[in-house]
Amino acid sequence: MILEIKNLSKTYSNGVKALNDINLSIGTGMFGLLGPNGAGKSSLMRTIATLQTADSGTITFDGIDVQQNPQALREVLGYLPQEFGVYPRISAEMLLDHLAALKGIDNKKERKELVEAMLQRVNLFKVRSKYLSTYSGGMKQRFGIAQALIGNPKLIIVDEPTAGLDPAERNRFYNLLSELGENTVVILSTHIVEDVSTLCSDMAVICLGEVMEHGHPLEVVKKMEGKAWRKTVSRNEVEQYRNEFRVIASHLRAGKILLHIYAETDPGNGFERISPNLEDAYFSTISSKVDLVTI
Ligand code: ADP
Repeated sequence: MILEIKNLSKTYSNGVKALNDINLSIGTGMFGLLGPNGAGKSSLMRTIATLQTADSGTITFDGIDVQQNPQALREVLGYLPQEFGVYPRISAEMLLDHLAALKGIDNKKERKELVEAMLQRVNLFKVRSKYLSTYSGGMKQRFGIAQALIGNPKLIIVDEPTAGLDPAERNRFYNLLSELGENTVVILSTHIVEDVSTLCSDMAVICLGEVMEHGHPLEVVKKMEGKAWRKTVSRNEVEQYRNEFRVIASHLRAGKILLHIYAETDPGNGFERISPNLEDAYFSTISSKVDLVTI
């Protein structure tokens, strides 16, 4: 089962080119789509989810031409959008039952069992009869997962799932996502590097509508090997270093600033070579396209 995206482009009516000739081949397992805000992640996710159309290019999933036959894709799709908008005054149990009916599960008893099992799985069983509008952020996210998983989808799209969650909620959410079957294509769109390094066995970095990197997170990090350097500097020196070097990260450490920079050869100046991580690789990739100070 493969999701194949070929030469996909989209320019909005205001002239913004959100997708610029995207090519990606995504197999089963957890795929991380990483990019800064405005990179085009949601545009790509919404296009795959058949909520909007592209100007050119093709998307095929498991034999389905997504743009020619959106209904067939919707039948095998589970989608957790970035924003649900307003949460209704209806209980989780009732809404899930309704959604399961829409997905074609006609037998009432079967639907009840399915909904109850799903509520147990996302740990919302105890609060199943409360209105969704009263749920906390983490509970809403878990409900989002439940509605995306109902009906056993083959393609699951999760758009920016951990934004706004506290660390404990994020962990719970990671555990839930990592349980998803090996036989499903799961696309996780995020600007949080940790989401990808924790969960994904394949990933791409997109920026300004283009694919900048694609591969296993360890392969992406490996390309950066030998090119990441660090040095602790004082606050007032940062600007000067930013002008002189390609700074990919700056962290506050005991009142000083720990700079990470990208350099193909030893930059001298007291920098020491470090073993890069995915964050270094990601910021180094996008720093060739966008100014990191502004993101
Ligand atoms: P991301 O999800 O990575 O933050 P988006 O796909 O939301 O990126 O946005 C990519 C670019 O397209 C941004 O410059 C954004 O402002 C623009 N954009 C997104 N949706 C629309 C729209 N409906 N109309 C016009 N521009 C849009």
